[in-house]
Amino acid sequence: MSRLLLHICCAPDATVAFERLRQYGDVVGLFYNPNIEPLAEYRLREAETAKLSALQGVEYIEEPPDREGWLKSVAGCEDEPERGERCRRCIAHRLEVTARKAVQIGIPTFATTLTVSPHKDVEFIHQTGREIAARVGLEYLNETLRKQDGFRRSVELSRQFELYRQNYCGCRWSMLTARNKDDVSVDTAGI
Ligand code: SF4
Repeated sequence: MSRLLLHICCAPDATVAFERLRQYGDVVGLFYNPNIEPLAEYRLREAETAKLSALQGVEYIEEPPDREGWLKSVAGCEDEPERGERCRRCIAHRLEVTARKAVQIGIPTFATTLTVSPHKDVEFIHQTGREIAARVGLEYLNETLRKQDGFRRSVELSRQFELYRQNYCGCRWSMLTARNKDDVSVDTAGI
């Protein structure tokens, strides 16, 4: 069976990704999220992802966060609203590093958990993944994990595994717009 490098943004989103993506190959989880602040929050989300991976028997890698590189990527877009240019650059940065890691360790396909969130622009994520994949000679798995109640399922599984669930996306600007993490009414089954 071939291997699949899965970019993981947080443990709750990884729950449903692990459940659904194993059909495509042996999943290797990659935690690469230099966007997450403060450092204690980064450590907590990383530790929860490592814990879930161990519970699920998934190989797991933490890629050290390149905060300087990430800050350069989003420079000039700090005041953009969520889903705007700042987020596009943040997502592209993380997918680019994921793809480079896949090439480095010889994994032919990559995917991301970012499509679990009902707050993300899935079309942008997929388009960016496909463009990067074509450029570096990989395959990108075009899977929209929030489909079929994916977000709701991630909430359920997170409770089952007693995972920490954050109430903001990750960066310092998103902290200002923290939301109700238990609101599954925003789930977008079918989108
Ligand atoms: S809101 Fe989320 S996706 Fe957007 S820049 Fe901040 S951490 Fe990245």
